[in-house]
Amino acid sequence: MKRSFIPLDAPPADRTTPGWWFVFSRYWLLVLDLGEKADIPLLQDPKTIGLQSLEEIYLGTLEGIPCYAAAIPDSPTAPAGMSFQDIRNLHERLDRERLLISFRALHLLDWSQKTKFCQRCGGGLKTVPNQRAKECPNCGFQSFPRISPAVIVLVEWEDQCLLARSPRFRDGFYSVLAGFAEPGETLEETVQREVREETGIEVKDIRYFGSQPWPFPDSLMIGFTAQYAGGQIRVDGTEILEAQWFPFNQLPKIPGKISIARQLIDWFMTKHQNR
Ligand SMILES: [Zn+2]
Repeated sequence: MKRSFIPLDAPPADRTTPGWWFVFSRYWLLVLDLGEKADIPLLQDPKTIGLQSLEEIYLGTLEGIPCYAAAIPDSPTAPAGMSFQDIRNLHERLDRERLLISFRALHLLDWSQKTKFCQRCGGGLKTVPNQRAKECPNCGFQSFPRISPAVIVLVEWEDQCLLARSPRFRDGFYSVLAGFAEPGETLEETVQREVREETGIEVKDIRYFGSQPWPFPDSLMIGFTAQYAGGQIRVDGTEILEAQWFPFNQLPKIPGKISIARQLIDWFMTKHQNR
């Protein structure tokens, strides 16, 4: 049986066998176009298809085949049969495992490109062999890929849920509330604070729902459900333009299937539809 993805830090000694190459130009991933579906190209090296990498990172193996991430300059030309696609639009074309490896690749490339120099002394950082780390030969400072935890929460009040519209959302859709954890805060406190700050609503019965890596650039979205405990909706008009209680059968325009936001809303709708 072919094995699924195994994360590894130490690259294979010889790179003569082809690998799955996750080639990115910003958020645009190089894919093999297979009609409705897409796949990751199996290549000897991006150079063999005329693409020059700025950065290359070994990721591990998928189905026993090595996986690599590569960053290339902007506005690349894809070879025949392939194209560059915004990773946020690939969830229906690429299988879930490849999509998550792409997220890993994007996150690590971003980290590596942002850590060329030491934060302490300004010297050049060197990759620590066979580890996901960089080190300063001058002062010993070490850098590891950073993950920024953010909560995302669906607040329920009987058969209604609290959704808000932010100026950051493309296409004017409504979504559940989200925000980054602050230093010294538990995730439950982050949920309470974000909902209070963004909508004026108090919540209780906070329950873990699930999580999703979100490498734009380095988040981990941690999903929760919560129950209405009090308060009236008020919004600041800048961070949040509008917030409303929506009945499960009268939802506004909501986010696409790729996001955990949508999984939370789908869970809420299914629960009430089946009553
Ligand atoms: Zn240093």
